[in-house]
Amino acid sequence: MHGMTRRQAGALILGLLGGTATARAEVVLTAVQETRFSGLVLRLDLDAPLPFRAFVLADPPRLVVDVADPELRIAGRLAPAGPGPLRAGRIDARWSRLIAPLERPMTVAEAGIDPGGALRIALERASGAELAAAARLAPGPEVLGRIAPPPPAASSLPRIVIDPGHGGIDPGALRGEIAEKDIALATGLELAAQLERTGRYEVALTRRDDRFVLLDDRVRFARASDAALFLSLHTNTVTAGQASGATLYVSSSEASDSESARRARLENGSDSAAGLRPSEVLDDVARTLMDLESRANGTRSRMAAERLVESLSDATGVIRSRPLRAADFQVLRAPEMPSALIELGFLSDAGDRADMVSPAWQRRFSAAIVTGIDEWMTADRAFLALMQR
Ligand SMILES: [Zn+2]
Repeated sequence: MHGMTRRQAGALILGLLGGTATARAEVVLTAVQETRFSGLVLRLDLDAPLPFRAFVLADPPRLVVDVADPELRIAGRLAPAGPGPLRAGRIDARWSRLIAPLERPMTVAEAGIDPGGALRIALERASGAELAAAARLAPGPEVLGRIAPPPPAASSLPRIVIDPGHGGIDPGALRGEIAEKDIALATGLELAAQLERTGRYEVALTRRDDRFVLLDDRVRFARASDAALFLSLHTNTVTAGQASGATLYVSSSEASDSESARRARLENGSDSAAGLRPSEVLDDVARTLMDLESRANGTRSRMAAERLVESLSDATGVIRSRPLRAADFQVLRAPEMPSALIELGFLSDAGDRADMVSPAWQRRFSAAIVTGIDEWMTADRAFLALMQR
C-alpha cells in the first residue's frame, strides 16, 4: 500500500485484554505511529490474507473490522485512555468482528492486506458530518448469516420458544467477568431441559450456544414456530440506586414507566452493540396490529406474566417491587402469540449476581417458570374456550 510502510519497530501495543486459553494464538490489534495521516494506522497480523471489511459507525464513533475467520480472537486497545476496550467475537458462521471505540470522528482512508496476512487500516480524522456520511454506507444486517428457522413441530404438544438474550459479539450487560449473555444462555438451556422433561411441552431455542442473533431474527423464529408462548431471557442493571429481583415485561407501545422505557431502549440496542447499522428493510414486523387476535394475545401475555410473577415469588422470593411492567421491546413484536421478557435479576446487585451465576439458582428459577407456565396453560385454555363462544 502506498505510503504505508512496514514499521514493526515503531509498533505500539497499547494494552491487552485478558484472554482465555485457546488453540489459536490471539491476534493483537496494533496502533502504528504515522505522520502522513493526521489519524491512526492500525495493523492486524493475520495468518493469511483473509477476506475482510473495515468500516466506521457513528453515535458513538466506532471502527468495525470483519475478518472471514469465525474462530479469530482479537485483542488490543486503540489508546491507553481511550473510550473503552475493543470487543471482538463471532458475528456469524463465517465472520469474526472487531469493534473499536474511537476517541473522535474518523473515517477509513485506506485498507489493505498483504500476501503475508498483515492487514493495515488507515483512519483519517473527519468531521461529524463526514463520519455520519461514511456510517450510512456501512453494511447492515443483510450481510449476516441468519439463524435457521425452527424445525417443524414434532408433536401436537404446545411449543414454548425460549430466547436467551444477546450472544456472540453482543455480551449484553457486563459486570467484571460476568456477562448477561452467559446467564441468559445457561438459564435458557436449563429451562428448556426442565420443560422437555415434563413431557407436556415441545421447546425451541433461538440459540443454544454463544452466537450473535439479530433481534428481528429472534422474532421471525418465534413467528415461524407457531409458539404457544415466547419467553425472552435477560438480566437487568441499574447505574444509580439499588434494585434487585426478577421483572416480567410484556409488550406495549407505551411503557408502563420511564425505567421500563429505558430498559426497552437498552435491550433494543443489541444489533447496534454488534456493530450493525439499523436497517429498515428487515423491520417487516407489524408493530401495532390492532385486530382482535393481537388484543387477545396481549391479554394472554399479561396473564402468563402474572402467573410467572406468582410462581417466582412463591419459589424463589426474588421478585422486585412492581414486578410486572410493560415496554416496547423489539423481540416482543410478534402479535400472533403470547410473549414476555424476563429480566432474571440485577447484574448491578451483588446478591442477584451471585444467584444468577449459580446453577442451583438457575434450576430453582427454571422450576418456578415451569410451574408458572403449567398454571398459565390451564387458565389460557379456559380463556381460549371463552373466546370461541
Ligand atoms: Zn438484555
